[in-house]
Amino acid sequence: MRTPATPDFFGRTREELQELFALEMPDVPKFRAGQVYRWLYARRAQSFAEMTDLPKALQAELKKRFKLPKLKLAHLSESSDGTRKFLFTLSDGLSIETVLIPSEMIDERGETKRKTLCVSTQVGCPLDCKFCATASLKLKRNLTTAEILLQVFEAERLTGETITNLVFMGMGEPMLNLEHVARAIRIMTDPETEILGKKRITVSTSGLPEAIREFTQMNLGVKLALSLHATTNELRSRLMPINRRYPLEEVLAAMEDYYQQSRIPVTYEYIVFHGLNDGPADAKRLAKITRRCPSKVNVIPFHPIDFTHPEGISAELAPAPKAEFERFLAMLRTEGVRVMVRTSSGVDIEAACGQLALAQEKPVELVLP
Ligand code: SF4
Repeated sequence: MRTPATPDFFGRTREELQELFALEMPDVPKFRAGQVYRWLYARRAQSFAEMTDLPKALQAELKKRFKLPKLKLAHLSESSDGTRKFLFTLSDGLSIETVLIPSEMIDERGETKRKTLCVSTQVGCPLDCKFCATASLKLKRNLTTAEILLQVFEAERLTGETITNLVFMGMGEPMLNLEHVARAIRIMTDPETEILGKKRITVSTSGLPEAIREFTQMNLGVKLALSLHATTNELRSRLMPINRRYPLEEVLAAMEDYYQQSRIPVTYEYIVFHGLNDGPADAKRLAKITRRCPSKVNVIPFHPIDFTHPEGISAELAPAPKAEFERFLAMLRTEGVRVMVRTSSGVDIEAACGQLALAQEKPVELVLP
């Protein structure tokens, strides 16, 4: 189940490629590794033959020794709101989902269009959040650096669109695959690849304090979000069993530490569940949490999932009616909380937050690129 720590040929940083060249092809000049690095990530070559500034003999040698991995598109479904969900098959036959969410926002320079890609980091997930469809899959394995990067490359290639923002919020807990997530971030944010700026990437975690501290020490310069969803240990432990092991105080301290080290404001994700976490006391506690360090809250409407056997708290989960949702937002704003509302992108194709569960057996609209 464990994904090897050593990356494939594709998925190596510049330094790791240099090491590989030095080890396996010591006669090849060092600068060739840099050329290959640019071909792989900046120019996105899909074969060694495309690397036209390499000598033919080196192209042939690379082809003989290494494979360039691919993600196979199994399904592409499109929502009425423009959200697209990719079902990719990995080389071992397992599947993952990736979601491309278009949105419009007004920034200081006028209207901009965002294309946010929500990428997976694991096949399934070992955590058992009670509102999440991915949880039912359990963990199959971690994704490799290559499989993380290829979600970006393939989404852009298949749609012809340029991704402007990336969130590690698909299937899996990124902090449990930190090595590969961090390597993918380093490659994507390297000025030489120009894939994405650091501030356009968000890593979202369910709250693993030790891993958050390790992530902090990596100094990647990206944004960090916590799936909070409850402001008491009692409710959070029912919604997210991982909270029994890592209670709120420990998780919030690690988030605060991330801000202190990086000076990057943190984000709290908060799904609103009718009658469970949307009262005045919840708003007050949430406001108190947000005051620990500069932060904002993404408030998210709950998207019901077809649980086969809803048990325990899963059976109680329901979306807040619009009026109550609005009242909760108003309470937060009155408390001075910086609130963003995440809209329900892709609900009709089960691509919304917490809905990713490899629904390939269900009929989905196939849109060929
Ligand atoms: S919400 Fe995230 S961490 Fe929780 S079970 Fe789902 S994928 Fe895993």
